[in-house]
Amino acid sequence: MKFLIILFIAKNCIILNIDGIRNDECFEAQNLYTKFIWDSLRPKGVIYTNFFVTGITYTTASHSAIISSSHEILLLNIYTSQIQRGFYPTIGEYLIKYKNLPQNKVYYISGKNTIWKYPTSLFPGFGDIYSPKIVLTNSGQNDIEVWDSLRTIMDRDHPVFVYAVFPEIDEMGHHGGWNGYINAIKKADSLCFEVYKKIKNDPFYKDSTIFIITTDHGRHSYSYQGHGDFCHGCRHIPFLAIGPGIKVDTVIELRRDYLDIAPTVSYLLNLPSPTFYGEIMSEMLINFKFKENMKIFYQDEMNLSNSIGKTIYPDIFINEDGIHVVFSDNTRGFYEVYYTKSPDFGNTWTNPIIIFSGNLDKEYLYPSISGYDSLIYVIAKGFKDTITQYGKTYVWELKGKKSKDGENWSNEINVFTSGEMGHRSAISIKENKINCISMDYYQQFHPRIVNSLSIDTGNTFLPPNLVGMDIYKYSYSPSVINKNGIAYCVWQEMIANNWEHGRWNIWFDKEPFGQNNYRKITNNLDDEYSYFPFLEKDEYGNLHLVYSHLNTSQGNSWQIFYRKSYDDGNTWTEGINLSYPFIGIYPSIKYIGNNTLICIWANYDFYQDKWCIGGVFSYDTGRTWSPFFQISSWQDFSLFPRFSYKDNYIYAVWEDGRDGNFEIYFKKFYFTNVYEVSYNFKNILKESLKNKDFKIYDVSGRKIYSYKIKTSGKYFLEIKGKRIPILILK
Ligand SMILES: [Zn+2]
Ligand SMILES: [Zn+2]
Repeated sequence: MKFLIILFIAKNCIILNIDGIRNDECFEAQNLYTKFIWDSLRPKGVIYTNFFVTGITYTTASHSAIISSSHEILLLNIYTSQIQRGFYPTIGEYLIKYKNLPQNKVYYISGKNTIWKYPTSLFPGFGDIYSPKIVLTNSGQNDIEVWDSLRTIMDRDHPVFVYAVFPEIDEMGHHGGWNGYINAIKKADSLCFEVYKKIKNDPFYKDSTIFIITTDHGRHSYSYQGHGDFCHGCRHIPFLAIGPGIKVDTVIELRRDYLDIAPTVSYLLNLPSPTFYGEIMSEMLINFKFKENMKIFYQDEMNLSNSIGKTIYPDIFINEDGIHVVFSDNTRGFYEVYYTKSPDFGNTWTNPIIIFSGNLDKEYLYPSISGYDSLIYVIAKGFKDTITQYGKTYVWELKGKKSKDGENWSNEINVFTSGEMGHRSAISIKENKINCISMDYYQQFHPRIVNSLSIDTGNTFLPPNLVGMDIYKYSYSPSVINKNGIAYCVWQEMIANNWEHGRWNIWFDKEPFGQNNYRKITNNLDDEYSYFPFLEKDEYGNLHLVYSHLNTSQGNSWQIFYRKSYDDGNTWTEGINLSYPFIGIYPSIKYIGNNTLICIWANYDFYQDKWCIGGVFSYDTGRTWSPFFQISSWQDFSLFPRFSYKDNYIYAVWEDGRDGNFEIYFKKFYFTNVYEVSYNFKNILKESLKNKDFKIYDVSGRKIYSYKIKTSGKYFLEIKGKRIPILILK
């Protein structure tokens, strides 16, 4: 047997994040303020001159994005009563879980003690049980405290990974005047050198430690006192790396961003981390080799992307012409949107073609596909470089493309410019009318959901209008449907004020948007989170909602919940848990006729630590639900499923981690009538106790019978000659 042996000499990694230093005062001023970093450290490693934050330029979101390599959408913890935690696993959690480390071998030290205070993810299979040690310093504004904690911990526990945040530059930038800001930079600069000397003089760390210096955001080009938008100064940041496997005395001009840090560290430490969205910065490494991936094929589970890059965010649409699938892939070094078609409903597929092409300064991450008759429409959110008076920066945009057959595509159509941050958008089409619902983050601290409307089959779009209410909030993850020509929308939102406390809930609105139709559907407490809503309608006009719900007192045990509205979204039924005893995220739901609803999600089994795609169905428009049925095989990661239904088949696509790298997988799944609705006696009894008013509905939700219960005793309900006993208690 032959083994490929790659020597990984890096064993440890220390990342110093000097919060809020503007690059004008760092690399661009050379050694003016940062003598130690520029003169002493820079020649020992690699620096990047085009390194950017491509997401939110606030502290909590940005540090979380760096350690999880994903564009986390989080508000500063000081504005919320609910703790802001990133969704995707952090590098510290991966280390503890996959290298089987004790907790005190991985540390997050936060000098931003009230703002970035709980960097442990909410992702199933991760979180508290694999949490690194989190150290919050006392004052939250003194770099010496961070240095004292760091060296004490290095001496005591010898952690293999530390992410430490120096708070003082940012604090002084905001409140200390120009001299205070500059003095804080000089202080942090000298402490960085102290950390370097500590690594060099400690036999545990010497020659085996990656040392990184960077920041979470810069400061406005137009004012060193603030930050938080997408101007050049907020986006452009320093990055320096020193250590085994890393080139020396090298300046790299290639554009990279903050999401690329964790995948590169992960590669150097030989750690699998498939949920990281960034790319390995191979150009800074000596002897970089792509790791050999083991490929396991299941006959009926097809790999549609088959690329060496990372392939994410699939979406699927079916019409008479075949199956249409889009996804995002970074094989060429940046994310682009691909399209592939199966004219014979799942047996053969065309070679994926690029429909939104990128380059080193332009990426497309989030495609969604829909259609109507012979119209196929794809929207994609991405960012591209934009030259401003202060220099280069990155701005997110939503673009559209249309086709009749999937072979010939229109030019890119501008839907709208969304600003600082993008996320997955939703699209619905009815005849000439297209509604694109997406996140708008043009104003600082105010990401909201907007509707871009086209009434000419997507050739042009009107300026976007607000969905929900215009208030200080964070919102994303929309889902939209069209009912009788009117668009209905749900999304997740956190309003940070004293009556909403900053808790994530599911919200609803319908056209005309932003008037008086919006509603909050869930009513969470501080330890509850509701994410990823998905909306559907049935032929009777009822609305069906599924979403992921977490109560953190039960670990990262997300559950899929279902609610129904009989009255156009004004009121909603109590949530029904569809996923228990499994854990579920990213649900979607479809009505397929005959009173049947299918809901599928990314399903996680905590006990075997594996994922599959599967779900449940209802034959009575959501009153009762089947047991779980499994669509795909158990794998290390199976995420982001989307599906369509046609002629007794479920066509599912998802992001699959079985190859050690995310690929888009597809399965054609025969959907059988294996489940018979059985009346649950316990549920009927509970209902009657609660209301003392017995009601019977038909499957469409119409009330057909009502009986006021006056006395307790034994009753019989007769349905088609079948007698069901009901016991009415006092
Ligand atoms: Zn910060
Ligand atoms: Zn700015």
